Amino acid sequence: MRRWSIPVIDIFGIHFRVHFSFPLMFSLVWILEAGRGPQVGLRSFLLVLLVLFAVVAHEFGHAVVAARNGIRVRSVVLLPISGISLLDEQAQRGMDMQCEIRIALAGPAVNLALAVLIGTTILLFRPQVQLLSFPWLTPFDLPRSLAWSQLFVGLLNLLPAYPLDGGRILRALLARSGDQVTATRRAVSIGQFFSLALFLCGGAVFLGSNSNNLWIMMAGVFLFLAAQLEDRSMILQAVLERVRVIDVMITEFITLSPAETLADALQRSADPPQEEFPVVRGTDMVGVISRQQMAECMADEGNGYVQSAMRREYLVAGPQESLAAVLRRIGRSGLAMIPVVEGDYLVGIMTFQNLMRKLTALSVHRPTAKTSTPNAPAPQQ
Ligand SMILES: [Zn+2]
Repeated sequence: MRRWSIPVIDIFGIHFRVHFSFPLMFSLVWILEAGRGPQVGLRSFLLVLLVLFAVVAHEFGHAVVAARNGIRVRSVVLLPISGISLLDEQAQRGMDMQCEIRIALAGPAVNLALAVLIGTTILLFRPQVQLLSFPWLTPFDLPRSLAWSQLFVGLLNLLPAYPLDGGRILRALLARSGDQVTATRRAVSIGQFFSLALFLCGGAVFLGSNSNNLWIMMAGVFLFLAAQLEDRSMILQAVLERVRVIDVMITEFITLSPAETLADALQRSADPPQEEFPVVRGTDMVGVISRQQMAECMADEGNGYVQSAMRREYLVAGPQESLAAVLRRIGRSGLAMIPVVEGDYLVGIMTFQNLMRKLTALSVHRPTAKTSTPNAPAPQQ
């Protein structure tokens, strides 16, 4: 997503970036309106600026309400129908449903309020502007377009098409059951259905009439873009930020004792798919060891004890951490198993295979295959 955008301005510590589809939109408007007299280039540019203004106002609505709930917006990527806000993930972890809905509603609310304000101002002071005539968005009537661009941006974002705000609200409502993974997967499929429907609708309207309806199709195209292109990774990122370790960890697993012999340990842990094991003394976690390590150690030095072969330095995750935070910390260390520790107490493990299964289940839009992982409900804080 960042690769397709350029940084433009920092306001109140928020980095605003403009997506490449803005210049694309400008060229498109220019080309399509080219037959309609002089100054098309300048007017098309001004029209694109009006849309950009609507999106910036929208994102400010999100940022202000987020800040009032103690969440900082770090950067915003501006797209022609919406923006993508990257929230501070530390704060996002503790975000509850109502807070998420408030933040999501704030953007469209700003646009709708501005649309009413601008519309009323025009009616009162510039009655010669025909506010309701078609086309609503045109480079040849910028005051009218100023009001309509706000209304379009506001309404489009209320569509229940994740990652648009309406989709975020839908996901928050779906997540009331507590399972973030299923909620996000459902919101994403509904979103893809909506963007496709709008795209086809826009296309049909476009083919069935003159180019004045261009905007409906363009909205569909950009919604389609927003849901498809940039958000493959955004959706994954959103999932990783929202899904907590407790949602994906395995709670039934084999632990080894440091006083066990390697031969005993190997025999007792002969049942796959677990490849790495936490080593526990009493209730304290003291090390980790893999099946391969045990086998190699036995081959080299004969049958010793688990404690002499185990690794004493290892990374742990907390049950309330987001997957994104854990993955960032672990980086490319190539660990196959991450112990999940609450206080000093081992509450679960996360394995690479089990994580991949969960993420695949998210990207494939069919009912999740039964996995060995319990769907532990995420506590709403
Ligand atoms: Zn929004």
